[in-house]
Amino acid sequence: MKINGTLINYYFHCKRQCWLCANRLNMEDESEEVRIGRVIHENMAMDNENSELNVENIKIDKITKEYLVEVKKSDADVQAVKWQVLLYLKILKEKGVERKGKIEFVEKNKQNSKTIYLELTQELEKELELLMEEIEDYIHKKNPSEVLNDKKCNKCSYYSYCYI
Ligand code: SF4
Repeated sequence: MKINGTLINYYFHCKRQCWLCANRLNMEDESEEVRIGRVIHENMAMDNENSELNVENIKIDKITKEYLVEVKKSDADVQAVKWQVLLYLKILKEKGVERKGKIEFVEKNKQNSKTIYLELTQELEKELELLMEEIEDYIHKKNPSEVLNDKKCNKCSYYSYCYI
């Protein structure tokens, strides 16, 4: 399976979630979090004709002359979103489209700002390549990592798979 934005995001959020998703154990997620996220994206699609572009195996929320914009409901897992956006910037760059990244959080709890800017530097691109190799190796392992036993599990679509 080709590494996409969801997998890279899950890898930071929970390695087990990444493995389960990559190995096609998809759970229908109807949690409140996911429902709100979907509404945010639907509203964006109505507001802006440049919303939701599909490029290869990635779905981009919005693209402007300067930025690739990713919109998230909350800033609960900033690292996960950052690497997801860096992957998108890399895929676009390979298509000859160079942009900077802009992450917009609808709710800010952990960050001082609702917006984060980032750029795909050469160093980050190298780090990203190594990270993708690491994820490739991991998702081909026979079994996933252990259950996290973390409060983030309560909102996870794999909750019933992991705990019941
Ligand atoms: S329920 Fe917890 S351990 Fe299981 S996949 Fe989700 S976050 Fe990971």
